[in-house]
Amino acid sequence: NQTEQTDVVVIGAGPSGALVSALLRQRGWHVVVLEGQHFPRFSIGESLLPQCMAYLSEAGMDDVVDKHAEELGFQFKNGAAFHYQGTDTAIDFTDKFSAGRGTTYQVKRAAFDKLLADTAQAQGVEIRYGHRVEALQEHDEHIELSVASEQQSYRLQARFVLDASGFGRVLPRLLELERRSSLPTRTAYFCHINDHISAANFDRNKILISVHPQHRDIWYWLIPFADGSASLGVVGEPEYFDEALSEQQNLWRLVGQEPNLAALLDSAQAITDTQRLGGYSADVSRLYGRRYALLGNAGEFLDPVFSSGVTIALKSASLAAPVVDGFLRGEKVDFDKDFAQPLKQGVECFKTFVLAWYDGRFQDVIFYPQQRSDVRRMISAILAGYAWDETNPYVAQSERRLDVLATLCNMEAQ
Ligand code: FAD
Repeated sequence: NQTEQTDVVVIGAGPSGALVSALLRQRGWHVVVLEGQHFPRFSIGESLLPQCMAYLSEAGMDDVVDKHAEELGFQFKNGAAFHYQGTDTAIDFTDKFSAGRGTTYQVKRAAFDKLLADTAQAQGVEIRYGHRVEALQEHDEHIELSVASEQQSYRLQARFVLDASGFGRVLPRLLELERRSSLPTRTAYFCHINDHISAANFDRNKILISVHPQHRDIWYWLIPFADGSASLGVVGEPEYFDEALSEQQNLWRLVGQEPNLAALLDSAQAITDTQRLGGYSADVSRLYGRRYALLGNAGEFLDPVFSSGVTIALKSASLAAPVVDGFLRGEKVDFDKDFAQPLKQGVECFKTFVLAWYDGRFQDVIFYPQQRSDVRRMISAILAGYAWDETNPYVAQSERRLDVLATLCNMEAQ
């Protein structure tokens, strides 16, 4: 059993792994990506935000996504629609406070993740599919990983390791960095359907978020794809689901309780099994160590409601690459100041909005019919993923601004 050496190992070839490996390869480093599965493979997380296209552009991947969008059935996306108790409202991402792109896609992640990984590979990144990281040891000059593939087990030494393993959470588990999320445990049930939606006013260019008519902390996503199929899911605390029922029965029972969604989907047919994912919110005690950093879901994962997961994952890759490059060059780098803190800035903004969604304040804001257009554009920017734009008052002072706004909307609505 020989021990190989490389500059950088990236664990996982999802969006954050593909982007960070391409960015470090661009800077001249030898990068090995160890991916436990074989692509294409299913992943949840299918509705992107426009802001993520800017991070993809750093490795030329935005153009690649645009170029292949039609052939791969990516659905053009320009906003988010919401429904609650008979009321419809929509946010148009092209009408927003922050500069930058206002459109993106809804993607089947099997095809999307493969496209990004193939692009990284074409740029010189070495990706080893079917290679799982099982253990590691930290040393002064390198980290040594124990890797298992279908053929063999071997050791690989890297000067720096980036954990992009998503819900695999490889380094948090192996280095005992796991910390309980401050968000309550929720469960999602989801599947793909042929939606057969005939309603003339249904906008396939937007994700539809519906709120349960009686329980405002239960919500549904409907993410249309370009081929007539869609991703359908429901999220709620575990007590809303019935252990005695199957996953499929739980999903459709809840869909049946939301009249607008039930009517839209009255001819829909499931084309995949229903899956359940619970307890996905996660946090860590630290996002980096001397020779490692955690990206995307391997670090913190909040909640799916604003489709921010892939955007945060790509932001973490974009922030990490220059710092890791400096570290490998022997420069004095500050992972806290240049990676962890700036990443957390946007994550905290999203977290404020997530908490306010579930306690109802942000729902009051979204469904308030006479929202001032400047306020609406600031909210639109955040929902489009521009949660790092500190010139937006709702980013700079999320909690205070949102709280005041929700109170005003509530007072005027009464
Ligand atoms: P991933 O894309 O998860 O990739 C990690 C990779 O690491 C995988 O390919 C895995 O095989 C590999 N891996 C794991 N362990 C090992 C190991 N030991 N060795 C080698 N490889 C390993 N986000 C959005 O942007 N939009 C949405 O609409 C959205 N909806 C969501 C709905 C739900 C219910 C949930 C739970 C999440 C949702 N998300 C959404 C979040 C999104 O799924 C993630 O944030 C995103 O996929 C994270 O990307 P990543 O690069 O961190 O990791």
